[in-house]
Amino acid sequence: MNWAVRSADNLLPLSEEKHHLNIALREWLYAGDMYDLEAPKESCELCEHPNIRYQFKIVNRSNGNEMLVGSECINKFGISATDELGVILDREGSRRRVNRDRRFLVNEARKRRMINALVELSASEEDFDIDSFISYVLDRDAFTPNQLAVLIWRFEQHNVEYKPSDFKIVIRRDREKEQLRRMDDWKLRKLWQSLSPSQRNWVQKNTDFKP
Ligand SMILES: [Zn+2]
Repeated sequence: MNWAVRSADNLLPLSEEKHHLNIALREWLYAGDMYDLEAPKESCELCEHPNIRYQFKIVNRSNGNEMLVGSECINKFGISATDELGVILDREGSRRRVNRDRRFLVNEARKRRMINALVELSASEEDFDIDSFISYVLDRDAFTPNQLAVLIWRFEQHNVEYKPSDFKIVIRRDREKEQLRRMDDWKLRKLWQSLSPSQRNWVQKNTDFKP
């Protein structure tokens, strides 16, 4: 059974239109309810694609039935989304809303992992003032190069698990550029996974570092 047939079998019983998938799909809306399961452990209730981590709720406008589906399904079937005021968006607007909401969930998960690593570090190192690091990153969503170099060094000292790409660096001002110019290669090597592509370009143009 292919995905279109499977999807019709799942959607039509919950729709007012009982025969044509394309007509039934128009009854459904995504209105911004989304969930992060924190692990890919569910299947899409529409197409049965396995290993869904981010669930998006679609609601039938006629009867209030609900389904939890993957974001790809909303885009693939052209299910309409609403904006924050409940206005129904066109196909392109719907796609943008869904993709933006998905990015939001991914980013929130990244921030949670980052804060968890910091809290774990503070538990293993009592005299380390973790609060100032946490409030700094909550304000700016990024660390200075020197801050992150210190953090990574301490994560490794204390065997705290962390994901380098969860941590971002800001190099907008001269102060941060100067930190990178003066930084030892071994520190830059540790920061490398946290740098964005444009930041990596900047480092390669402005320092002698070879990744
Ligand atoms: Zn699906």
